[in-house]
Amino acid sequence: MKNVLETPLTYANGATVAQLQARVAGQVIGLGDPHYDDLRAAWNLTVNQHPALIVVAESAADIAEAVRFAREADLKVAVQATGHGVVRPANDSLLIITSNMTEVRIDAESRTAWVSAGAKWGKVLEQAQAVGLAPLLGSSSGVGAIGYTLGGGMGWLARKYGLSIDSVNCFEVVTADGQIGTASEQQRTDLFWGLRGGGGSLGVVTGMEIRLYPVTEFYGGNLYYPIEQAPAVFARYREWSANAPDELTSAIVIMNYPPLPFFPEPLRGKSIAQIRGAYCGPIEQGEAMLKFWRDWQTPLIDDFAARPFSDIGKVSKDPPNPSPGLSSGAWLNDLSDETLTTLLNYSSAAHGLTPLTALEVRHAGGAIARVDPSASAFSHRTAPHSLQWVGMAPTPEAQAALRQHSARFKQALRSHLTGGVYLNFLEGEEAAAHSRDGFSTDAYRRLQTLKALYDPDNRFSHSYDLAFGQAATAAA
Ligand SMILES: Cc1cc2nc3c(=O)[nH]c(=O)nc-3n(C[C@H](O)[C@H](O)[C@H](O)COP(=O)(O)OP(=O)(O)OC[C@H]3O[C@@H](n4cnc5c(N)ncnc54)[C@H](O)[C@@H]3O)c2cc1C
Repeated sequence: MKNVLETPLTYANGATVAQLQARVAGQVIGLGDPHYDDLRAAWNLTVNQHPALIVVAESAADIAEAVRFAREADLKVAVQATGHGVVRPANDSLLIITSNMTEVRIDAESRTAWVSAGAKWGKVLEQAQAVGLAPLLGSSSGVGAIGYTLGGGMGWLARKYGLSIDSVNCFEVVTADGQIGTASEQQRTDLFWGLRGGGGSLGVVTGMEIRLYPVTEFYGGNLYYPIEQAPAVFARYREWSANAPDELTSAIVIMNYPPLPFFPEPLRGKSIAQIRGAYCGPIEQGEAMLKFWRDWQTPLIDDFAARPFSDIGKVSKDPPNPSPGLSSGAWLNDLSDETLTTLLNYSSAAHGLTPLTALEVRHAGGAIARVDPSASAFSHRTAPHSLQWVGMAPTPEAQAALRQHSARFKQALRSHLTGGVYLNFLEGEEAAAHSRDGFSTDAYRRLQTLKALYDPDNRFSHSYDLAFGQAATAAA
């Protein structure tokens, strides 16, 4: 990387900040601007990026101008809505910030929503719930709807209604030639196929139309058990989830709670085994499903309850504020005793020192698996469980330790993994290095062909590696 202080304010071909500012309504920020440091920050505090130039886009037209300027100035383009999922830091590139483009329009009659590039799921949820509808958001309302969707998008309604990509009607997208166009089942169908799972490597999405579902309440929450009971709890979960209807999307969790007063006393400073989930059918049926657990051993805490769907974020309780988390994961083939033991050995602080804060195994299948795997770029539809772990890594040393731990963990689990990864759950350089593993061989080849067609100069090089000759690693 270049020394940032040497990065010029005049770019290739004499392009300048002032020239771009004259062409866009949004703010253009160069190095040395007092707002530069605030704007280059990402929600994920492990990201420390130094763009050559930042554009705070106000419209699709601004994004198109920014992309055209990047061509003229020979700059790569990075996009950021929230900074929850930065793949490659925007060093020396033109960073398009979409966070001012928050428009959400709900059409209750057609049960659809138009979602602009910078809208977070929380806003879509709020407006959709006001008319009795729900989007296919993930665990946190603070995540950007489009970044999440471009990677697939697996939330608490996934087994019933599928991935977020399965409910996209169309994308409006700026391609590397700086043109604004539509990708849908009718127009540019190849690009539509690639954007559904292929990340932000093919263009900048300025908005999308998605389908919504009539969900206003759910029965969900967490059961918390002492870690010593984890083998019995997780073996019981295996039985429960194997017979679960699609209305139930659930997970097992291992959490190492810090000794902070913020956490309830029985959890504080302890490793805890959790059963987590959301049932989106009739409330009485959801409550009846919990009898399986309530007739068994009494947990430390049982907060499963009937809740309005607007409270779906209370299932995972993800941190709302920026944090230095590093996430990794894989698709898991089974929940055998050996798998469960390995998960415990590598993630519970009760089994020795671990840099991990949390591990979650989400039940996939259901509607996710009923879609033809070749219908979109997202290919790993038949894997039964997604596995994700997260650690807090505020320093480069902590990040290195976490990455080493992740590599050892994956090695120990190797025979129980499908070999594929869910790129939304990989962080930063790991997502770039393992982009190929996010797809089937055919899908990856097809994405490379699309990349050559729509972005031959690899202008959008800050998302997954799709360019020929760039994917670094095969399945680990
Ligand atoms: C707390 C937390 C909870 C999460 N929960 C879930 C979950 O339940 N399910 C799940 O599937 N994932 C989940 N994720 C992962 C999340 O979906 C990804 O990190 C996603 O990329 C975040 O999108 P963003 O726009 O908020 O982040 P950003 O960092 O702003 O964007 C991420 C990447 O998406 C691309 N991108 C964003 N906007 C555009 C655009 N308009 N056009 C083109 N490319 C774009 C860019 O490549 C960018 O680098 C979670 C992440 C966090 C941190």
